[in-house]
Amino acid sequence: MNPTSDIHIGISSCLMGEPVRYDGGHRKHDDIVNVLGQRVTFVPVCPEFEVGMGVPRETLRLIGDPEAPRLVTTETGIDHTDRMLTFARERVRQLEAMDLSGYIFKSRSPSCGVERVEVVSEGGSRSGRGLFARVLMEHLPGMPVAEERHLSDPALLENFLARVLHFHRNKR
Ligand code: SF4
Repeated sequence: MNPTSDIHIGISSCLMGEPVRYDGGHRKHDDIVNVLGQRVTFVPVCPEFEVGMGVPRETLRLIGDPEAPRLVTTETGIDHTDRMLTFARERVRQLEAMDLSGYIFKSRSPSCGVERVEVVSEGGSRSGRGLFARVLMEHLPGMPVAEERHLSDPALLENFLARVLHFHRNKR
């Protein structure tokens, strides 16, 4: 990581190698950390850990209306929607104050996923967005965002960095 860069990018903490997943594991993405880390300062965020769910924790899923899903625990059905939305709105304001120029989300997560996150609905599964990602993208529209699964290709990683740099330059 380059702590001296004034280009700040938010990132799902598990992609940085932090052991914050429900099972105590991580999903470190070496290309993102090593390549982008030379140019930017990462701001890691794990919504589920930071909201106080702990590690390890029960897995979560989205249910109901794909446009306004509920975030519930998979086995016990505890509804964490309101708690997560309250946290997300406050955390996003903090991140805005840190002058973010981009965000990299962990795909398929009911909190962090940007697209194609499973939402269990009447009549089967639908496609939706994680709760934290939804709040952040609504609050900071236009800021470059990506899921890690689209950044394994070096050309796509460079393209994302170029969008971040362009956004960073143009807000000054
Ligand atoms: S996907 Fe998001 S909520 Fe899940 S462990 Fe990673 S940072 Fe935390």
